[in-house]
Amino acid sequence: VPIDPESMFKEGFLKSVYNEKSSKRVVTRFPPEPNGFLHIGHSKAIAINFGFARYHHGVCYLRFDDTNPEAEEEKYFTAIEDMIQWLGFTPYKVTYSSDNFDKLYELAEALVRKDDAYVCHCTDTEIKLQKGGEKGTAGPRYACPHRDRPPEESLAEFRAMRNGKYKPREAFLRMKQDLTDGNPQMWDLAAYRILEKPHHRTGHKWRIYPTYDFTHCLCDSFEDISHSLCTTEFQLSRVSYEWLCDAVEVYKPMQREYGRLNLTGTVLSKRKLLKLVEDHHVRGWDDPRLYTLIGLRRRGVPPGAILSFVNELGVSTALTSIQIVRFEQSVRRYLEQTVPRLMLLLDPIPVIIDNLPDDYVEDIELPFSPKDPSFGNHTVPFSKTVFIDRVDFREVDSKDFFRLAPGKSVGLLKVPFPIKATSFEKDEASGLVTAVHADYEKPEDGSTSFKKPKTYIQWVGSSPAHSSPINAEVRIFNPLFKSENPDAAEGGYLNDINAASEEIHPNAMIEIGLEEIRKRAPWPEEEGEKDVKKGEAGWETVRFQGMRVGYFCMDRDCDGDKVVLNRIVSLKEDAGK
Ligand code: ATP
Ligand code: MG
Ligand code: MG
Repeated sequence: VPIDPESMFKEGFLKSVYNEKSSKRVVTRFPPEPNGFLHIGHSKAIAINFGFARYHHGVCYLRFDDTNPEAEEEKYFTAIEDMIQWLGFTPYKVTYSSDNFDKLYELAEALVRKDDAYVCHCTDTEIKLQKGGEKGTAGPRYACPHRDRPPEESLAEFRAMRNGKYKPREAFLRMKQDLTDGNPQMWDLAAYRILEKPHHRTGHKWRIYPTYDFTHCLCDSFEDISHSLCTTEFQLSRVSYEWLCDAVEVYKPMQREYGRLNLTGTVLSKRKLLKLVEDHHVRGWDDPRLYTLIGLRRRGVPPGAILSFVNELGVSTALTSIQIVRFEQSVRRYLEQTVPRLMLLLDPIPVIIDNLPDDYVEDIELPFSPKDPSFGNHTVPFSKTVFIDRVDFREVDSKDFFRLAPGKSVGLLKVPFPIKATSFEKDEASGLVTAVHADYEKPEDGSTSFKKPKTYIQWVGSSPAHSSPINAEVRIFNPLFKSENPDAAEGGYLNDINAASEEIHPNAMIEIGLEEIRKRAPWPEEEGEKDVKKGEAGWETVRFQGMRVGYFCMDRDCDGDKVVLNRIVSLKEDAGK
């Protein structure tokens, strides 16, 4: 049964958050900092913010929180928008915190004038000591010597900061909060700092930039956000969020906090991902072994499967730490119901059916789904030479083996009669079987009764007229790290890399049904992929189950006649390594 994609709004945490303020039109925002690619954790924030608004007939902004020109890059803006669209959401408006720089500056001056902010020239170390030192243990908290300077002086200094009198870190604007409060978010947080970097939108106009603590709540207020949903690291910030809105006398949105989604067995931090990319441990930011959203997309994971996973986990204030296998289980369940099936061989060997004529070709009709007739059928050629997977043949038979072996019969999926192996050829040097000889067990007398084989295996026929088989390179992905907690590994996560995280099968084969599903992709029809014209969809939307092998999609390395396939997930949990 597929997960109700709106289940998380119908009960629990998000339902009660809605109830707290159900009279106001729902306005939410997803506020990424454009300093990296989105990862699977962000899909939870996207599903919550955009989904909440959609469910309650409201709107959701995409707001780029671009207040730190040192870390931000143009390419991330487009990538972030693409991923939101891919997940099936459309922002009501795309906004930028930087659009509000003038307004924020005005409010900062107002704050100074009413003696709720001051310019401070202390060093990092001094400020740390004022806050009670490392972890608040070095001594009592005390006020900064600039805290009591007259507002006019702070105002002049703030303008001097803006006009270039000071170098970075020589001056800050700090909010005058409450040093006696037990909450560190009330200990005179910085509101503005000096950064000598041109901004991608405002250029050289500013050399002072507002901090997250100053910007976020005010931008929420400007956009009339009803429910400001963020992760629990911001729980303590709720007080300063409300303090500032009250201090500058603007509308105060309601901030509520939910638990982050963490995936174990991998790393998500930008710095670590960058290292993996730069040192060529992976093929790029969209490597299918990474849990960036572009990586998951390239791997063939449908956006609906990600949303369904997030819904399945539910939303509460607890941190959700999930193992990769659990994610894969969810993806597998989704694919099982939604993608067509094809016959794929990772390591093909030819079977020559000696009692068929050389030019024998029979069209075999194959359904794309064993259960759902709406998926349709296609035909594949059954010929004198067919290929099967090496693992489905044994040189020496045994009682508990039910596939092909000398003297033993096996069924070829949807082929009317079984084949029985008679002999095989072997390359002595490599010890590998190079061909199997078999007989087609069609009864001579034309009767249709025969002993049903215990097992049916996948196969691919050989018919140049049908362009069969299609050769492919198949990439199988195993976890990139050996342990559940790569960061805790001795020597760090780079020492925990699994050398066998990518297995390549260069000589795989696939049946011609691939051509048809390519024309029909995206398969499944996903909300976020729906604008793509049939047949022109991204490679990764050509998804299918390789029967008895796993779930696959085409990779963007496909080129002309070259077919490259990625394994999305294995068929069963224990089938993967
Ligand atoms: P990261 O450092 O991992 O990129 P971040 O906290 O810097 O994450 P932003 O890029 O600012 O995040 O993310 C935008 C929104 O996504 C924020 O509201 C943030 O709380 C949310 N978010 C980020 N990571 C997660 C996560 N793992 N689970 C749920 N929400 C997340
Ligand atoms: Mg981020
Ligand atoms: Mg951040």
